[in-house]
Amino acid sequence: MSVFSAPAYDRHELVSFSNDNGSGLRAIIAVHDSTLGPGVGGCRMFPYASEDAALHDVLRLSRGMTYKSAMAGLPLGGGKSVIIGDPRSDKSRDLLLAMGEFIDAQGGRYVAAEDSGTGVADMRVMAERTRWVSGLEDNRYGGDPSPSTAWGVFLAMRTAVHYRFGEADLKGRSVALQGLGHVGYYLAKYLREAGAEVYGADVNVDNLRRAVEELGVIAVDPAKVLELAVDVVAPCAMGAVLDERSIDALQAGIVCGAANNQLASAVDAAHLRDRGILYCPDFLVNAGGIIDVHHQRLGSPAEERSQHIARIEDNLERVLQRARTHGLSTHDVAEAMVEEYLEEVRRANLVLAAAG
Ligand code: NAD
Repeated sequence: MSVFSAPAYDRHELVSFSNDNGSGLRAIIAVHDSTLGPGVGGCRMFPYASEDAALHDVLRLSRGMTYKSAMAGLPLGGGKSVIIGDPRSDKSRDLLLAMGEFIDAQGGRYVAAEDSGTGVADMRVMAERTRWVSGLEDNRYGGDPSPSTAWGVFLAMRTAVHYRFGEADLKGRSVALQGLGHVGYYLAKYLREAGAEVYGADVNVDNLRRAVEELGVIAVDPAKVLELAVDVVAPCAMGAVLDERSIDALQAGIVCGAANNQLASAVDAAHLRDRGILYCPDFLVNAGGIIDVHHQRLGSPAEERSQHIARIEDNLERVLQRARTHGLSTHDVAEAMVEEYLEEVRRANLVLAAAG
């Protein structure tokens, strides 16, 4: 395994490996960029097929966190950690304590939160060995940031619909959701409350049944959900779902969902633009969760948190307008805006440092 020449390596500041023989922990922590603050991001536990696959994931996801937090105007850098193992069979108290020690050894450069394969209870065990853990239950709002993520996606979808169809009302609009888990369920709920027609697919029958029975979601085939002739498709399951083939098959005019890293590769952004599909950059629209976690840590009033999440609408508006003006893809514009911002902050920091 090589790190510096790995395909997803993007001048990451820190990549740290742990192999704890006692507990069986094998984990990687990556901090992509700390210009704005410590690298904050989820701790994912997954039975990766190889060490390279785990490295690829942690490099990609930590980079995504840099862009997400910066675009959201948070004083946080991009970080992520992965534990190699099956969360259903390999998780133990000793392993989580060892992960806590591994996080602690980074001295605050990385702050962990829950992610797929880990939950609030696991974070609490890690917190026995480190203070660099967020998203614990004993905060003002409760730990799960998914409703906030879903709310941010909902607001972005309204903005995109307004941009495309000239009116922001989602009443009567049709939306297809891939994934009805933590975020997808709440997104479906907000959409149904707004009067939208919601189609949904999930490979987990319990999650599908809950959305159908409680929210009136219309169940569709998971293999076909992204190909439906609807106004909007919302990927809310896994990453890399937008590739050459799936983009060709899209019939919706808008893609706006919560999943991280929806584009399989950088060229897919241009492909979406060329097909005239309005793609809402994932790291911009799914920032509600990290904004929520940040305000949980600060103990801010609920109103402040909501206002911050609502800025997702303005950010998307700016990206859509700049993309239209310059004929660029929305993804490229959003990334460029973050890079310009980070560069400005770095320059300002240098000036401050030189001034002593
Ligand atoms: P989750 O695991 O609770 O839900 C994902 C759902 O997708 C599950 O119900 C799963 O069964 C389903 N699924 C998996 N493969 C599928 C397939 N092929 N077709 C249809 N359904 C499928 O996860 P979540 O917390 O809801 O997050 C969803 C996505 O949003 C993930 O990509 C996550 O990284 C991203 N995200 C989540 C948050 C958050 O606050 N939870 C924040 C930002 C980004």
